[in-house]
Amino acid sequence: MHTFEFIRPADPDAAVATASQAKTAQQGADVRFIGGGTTLIDLMKLNVETPARVLDINRLPFDKIEATSDGGLKIGATVRNSDLAHHPVVQRDYAVLSQAILNGASAQLRNMATTAGNLLQRTRCMYFRDTAMPCNKREPGTGCPAITGANRMLAILGTSDHCIATNPSDMCIAMAALEATIHIQGTKGPRAIPFADFHLLPGSTPHRETVLEPGDLVTHVTLPPPIPGSKQVYLKLRDRASYEFALASAAVVITIAGGNVTKARIALGGVGTKPWRSPEAEAALVGKPADAANFRKAAEAALRNAKPQTENGFKIELAKRCLTHALQTAVNA
Ligand SMILES: Cc1cc2nc3c(=O)[nH]c(=O)nc-3n(C[C@H](O)[C@H](O)[C@H](O)COP(=O)(O)OP(=O)(O)OC[C@H]3O[C@@H](n4cnc5c(N)ncnc54)[C@H](O)[C@@H]3O)c2cc1C
Ligand code: SF4
Repeated sequence: MHTFEFIRPADPDAAVATASQAKTAQQGADVRFIGGGTTLIDLMKLNVETPARVLDINRLPFDKIEATSDGGLKIGATVRNSDLAHHPVVQRDYAVLSQAILNGASAQLRNMATTAGNLLQRTRCMYFRDTAMPCNKREPGTGCPAITGANRMLAILGTSDHCIATNPSDMCIAMAALEATIHIQGTKGPRAIPFADFHLLPGSTPHRETVLEPGDLVTHVTLPPPIPGSKQVYLKLRDRASYEFALASAAVVITIAGGNVTKARIALGGVGTKPWRSPEAEAALVGKPADAANFRKAAEAALRNAKPQTENGFKIELAKRCLTHALQTAVNA
């Protein structure tokens, strides 16, 4: 691993001021914040990330989970994934988030991983992680060998001719369905970003993954007040039962009255280049009877624009069945 300076900023302002000296907050940033380090250190060992300065934010005051005045929840950037998943309010009111986190990684990793680090974890595309290979995300303009190569795990929604990498997070899929908001402290002060606007599609600039600019520090995430009576399920399908990323997953937050769906928020994992909210599936459900035929129609709508690659066409039917089963499980809960 290359040498780097390890810094513990005294407060958030100092952290932002130092990070703002970086040329970019995207791939190749020369200053990086570190939370649990379970993504960053891996990538530094592989020389995929080579920051000159690493800013340890673990002593900054971002480790609390608190109620907000509007009845929602504020989750600090350095709250560990385990603490979030096991928090009683999360388990009671935001069960889909607890389930999604507990479906990710391993207990040891969840004990280290932080809220902000999970939001910003990087793709597991093998070419991205191998500096001997070209990769547009790691080195813009070098090409995307995954399009004709090993793409079984990669995306079928939101892809471009420049990158087909999957966003690997489970937590983010639940946060997309819960309509979380991400709070940033930057050089111009604080700002709040709706979850759907935080991650970017690859387009022709796959090295830009989020809207973050140099200096931007994620301070916390807020969840809106829980939807009364909503049923919530996270279902993850993968090659083995634990310690494995999703081939397809579905986060479902649904409300039913008189046998009809009155509200639905749906997001898919393992299939999108960003955490994939599906307004198409939601529109197909609301106002309709909560039955198997309509769940299948919603799944068809969610995957209508899917584009299979050479090895991952199976994901289209898998994702449909995943969403259908998640909806049925929610209704039966
Ligand atoms: C073997 C293995 C299996 C895994 N399996 C899964 C899985 O099944 N599902 C899943 O969802 N995840 C999985 N993960 C990924 C894991 O969830 C992430 O590594 C973890 O959530 C990252 O959190 P962290 O705090 O360790 O991030 P770090 O490594 O500390 O940081 C990650 C990125 O976020 C940036 N960052 C951190 N905090 C801030 C902040 N406050 N503001 C701005 N930028 C910040 C860092 O600079 C870095 O670029 C797995 C990881 C491993 C190693
Ligand atoms: S899919 Fe994206 S991350 Fe993977 S090789 Fe292509 S450009 Fe790189």
